[in-house]
Amino acid sequence: MMCAATAGLAGREVMLIDHASKLAEKIRISGGGRCNFTNVNVTPENFISANPKFCRTVLAGYTPQDFIKLVNSHGISWHEKHRGQLFCDDSSEQIIAMLKRECDRANVRWRMPCSVQSVKQTADGFELDTSVGVLCCRDLVIATGGTAVPQVGATDFALRIAQQFGVDVIDPRPALVPLQFDPKVWQPFANLAGVAIEAEIAVANGRQRFVEDMLFTHRGLSGPGILQISSYWRAGQSLAINLLPMRGLAEQLIALKSGAKQQAVTVMAKFWPKRLAEQWLGEAGQRKFAEWSDKAVRALIEQIQNWQVTPSGSAGLRKAEVMAGGIDTDALDQRTLGVKGIRGLYFLGEAVDVTGWLGGYNFQWAWASGVACGRALSARARG
Ligand SMILES: Cc1cc2nc3c(=O)[nH]c(=O)nc-3n(C[C@H](O)[C@H](O)[C@H](O)COP(=O)(O)OP(=O)(O)OC[C@H]3O[C@@H](n4cnc5c(N)ncnc54)[C@H](O)[C@@H]3O)c2cc1C
Repeated sequence: MMCAATAGLAGREVMLIDHASKLAEKIRISGGGRCNFTNVNVTPENFISANPKFCRTVLAGYTPQDFIKLVNSHGISWHEKHRGQLFCDDSSEQIIAMLKRECDRANVRWRMPCSVQSVKQTADGFELDTSVGVLCCRDLVIATGGTAVPQVGATDFALRIAQQFGVDVIDPRPALVPLQFDPKVWQPFANLAGVAIEAEIAVANGRQRFVEDMLFTHRGLSGPGILQISSYWRAGQSLAINLLPMRGLAEQLIALKSGAKQQAVTVMAKFWPKRLAEQWLGEAGQRKFAEWSDKAVRALIEQIQNWQVTPSGSAGLRKAEVMAGGIDTDALDQRTLGVKGIRGLYFLGEAVDVTGWLGGYNFQWAWASGVACGRALSARARG
């Protein structure tokens, strides 16, 4: 819709095709129904791609401030929640209505629901065999998103069309997704389901780390910190988790210990949810903390601050917020999102191998890549 409105407002004739009967389902369900529509701290470093520099031009060409201006011009009230994340005060439906209004202003025509059986290149563009008949166009923009959450209509259409046109695809994988463990390995932690703490999470030996909330679940770990690191995690890798990211914790506890009449578990419960302290310390937690040797306290803190665990997998694409991987950016022009060597064919949004962090980054990429492509289409009309 961002691409269609941009091209349409510049005078291009645009038809938008979608196989869904309900418009923009992913926006509707986003941000818990309030759409985390951008993040004021967007930088290229917040995106994962085989070519991390690819997204720079597009992101610089349409910034969070540009989208905020659009939101404000439609009278949508919003608030900043956490670390630059902007949400609608009321409902994500407002963002959908805004985009629809922009498309209406640009005289965009719709075919919806309409499924596309095949795409063929012709002498002067493309021919689409669709459920409403054959449609022809000079330029074809594929913005059908990634494969995450097929329950709301996500498909691998973009990846299939890319392959048809000889465009490489980086293996798609679930990202921003809960991580799971072998049930036997997880058994001691399964009864912590529902416990949430702040943790510092990294892939073992990896550079990227996140200090965010983490949630224990029946099958593994979830919460914002785990969703963030899941995008960097690959099968077989371990995670290094600091379950109490505080400096000088061992010294603090050793100082607390002398003369402490309390059980170790009671002391640890000052720092942690009680359930976690009980589970982690087990029987040793019932002993008076004063009886613990300094060495034992240091060993406990080392264990807590460098917890190494190896997930057996992720919760998969049905539970993932986005797909990582996708159309190889090497095949695309970084200003227009056009396929190099195929005049008139474009891919944008989540279908492309540019994956944002949790927190409004993926929508900003979708808006910015849509605008970049829409501008390129307008320029092509003039040229
Ligand atoms: C639960 C959930 C919550 C999220 N919350 C946020 C958030 O708060 N902030 C954020 O930045 N990101 C969020 N995301 C990610 C964000 O929704 C996506 O990255 C973004 O929608 C991608 O935009 P897109 O235009 O590329 O694709 P989409 O929004 O997925 O749009 C693709 C469109 O193409 C249509 N389509 C698909 N296949 C076909 C086909 N074969 N034929 C015809 N039409 C087709 C679909 O019906 C859809 O309308 C969330 C994702 C999920 C699943």
